[in-house]
Amino acid sequence: MQTQILGLLTPMMALFFAATFAVFWKAGRMKRHVLGFAIGYLFFAVGFLATHFLPPNAFYTFHLTQFFYSVGCGIFVVSTCERVGQRPHLPVLLGIYIFSAVVLAISVNVTNDVGPRLILLNIGYGAMFLVNLVALLSAQRSDWIDKAIIAVTALQIADFFIRPTLTMMFEQSIPSEEYRGTVYYSLIGLVLGVKTIAGAMVLLGATIVEWTNSLRESSDKDALTGLNNRAAFEEVMGRSIARAHTQEVPFSLVVADIDHFKQVNDIWGHQAGDSAISGFGKLIQEMIRGCDTAGRIGGEEFCIAVWNCPNEPAERLADRIRTAFGRLEHDGLNDDIRLTASFGVATVREGESYERLFARADAALYRAKSGGRNRVENAEHEVESATPNRVSAAPSTQHGEAQAPVKEPELVELKRAGG
Ligand code: GH3
Ligand code: MG
Ligand code: MG
Repeated sequence: MQTQILGLLTPMMALFFAATFAVFWKAGRMKRHVLGFAIGYLFFAVGFLATHFLPPNAFYTFHLTQFFYSVGCGIFVVSTCERVGQRPHLPVLLGIYIFSAVVLAISVNVTNDVGPRLILLNIGYGAMFLVNLVALLSAQRSDWIDKAIIAVTALQIADFFIRPTLTMMFEQSIPSEEYRGTVYYSLIGLVLGVKTIAGAMVLLGATIVEWTNSLRESSDKDALTGLNNRAAFEEVMGRSIARAHTQEVPFSLVVADIDHFKQVNDIWGHQAGDSAISGFGKLIQEMIRGCDTAGRIGGEEFCIAVWNCPNEPAERLADRIRTAFGRLEHDGLNDDIRLTASFGVATVREGESYERLFARADAALYRAKSGGRNRVENAEHEVESATPNRVSAAPSTQHGEAQAPVKEPELVELKRAGG
């Protein structure tokens, strides 16, 4: 009775882990490899149950358990490889399974001693995990959780290769009908239990890390544009400014606001307005470099953190975006209508905080608005700003092509007034 209860412990744990991964996959909308972990544990649970409850001397017992363990191992290999974007080498895994199945079939017919078949089966499982280890080691990832998965895989291999051989050295031979009374059988129960828990804890850790990362990413993103939301942008700025100060890297901030946007909503509706905001966000994302960060910090207000960029190039970037936006067509607006945006640029000064930098860029944006809109104002040229703006509404001619006239926002008002 005691043996039966103990024998149920490992399959029950495996079932519990299978259910846990299935819940994570379904409720957390997680990727396919998490479902793979669930199915892998399910196969292991069935394998454990088969090992414990099928008659030990029946010819099919070893075949069935081998099938369930091998499929379970295969699914783990595929899932852990998929998690890090590696190829799982399926033909090699299949080859290992077929080879061990054939040799098992021969050994079951030749001898009643389960020793050789246990060694053979375990080496087969070990070989599968070895394939996994090679794939995981060549993945371009080295988070602590990736290292933990590699360590557990290496332990699995060591166990599969060393344990059966060592035990057989002590037990000499095991007639199949005495299998469940042997030291080997007690040992395997213990080792399987420990391995199941250790493996599940590491994979569960990896799953929780992925889940919290995906939650954080989605809470950091603005749904309409896919850019950082205000809180996330400010967090990035806090870190970047500190880094810019310590590394003495030039760092600029661009603030942008679509001109006369209330009228867009009033005339063409909120949905058309949304599409214009989304178009502006997409354009900004396309025009900045990978090391820059853009965020939507308000309704139709955007910020760009321009890393390793002095003031003048940041101003030119703002002007390129201004020109490109002035040419952009928008869904839901009349075909001949173009929107414009105004920009403020500031470059971080020694010891300056984000709040101060933002205030200066925002003041420059305010000047761009009051100076007629559709222009870039530079906080570093505050004195000059009393005179007409250097980078102004004049279309950029950097590519030397003829500029399509940008419809001034006043046209929006005219259209509206005229019905
Ligand atoms: P200005 O040129 O001075 O910037 O004029 P404006 O009309 O753009 O003025 P302001 O920037 O104050 O107006 C922003 C408007 O943007 C107000 C609000 O109705 C609209 N808005 C804010 N968030 C959204 C949004 O998510 N979708 C849409 N469609 N409109 C929004
Ligand atoms: Mg506006
Ligand atoms: Mg605004």
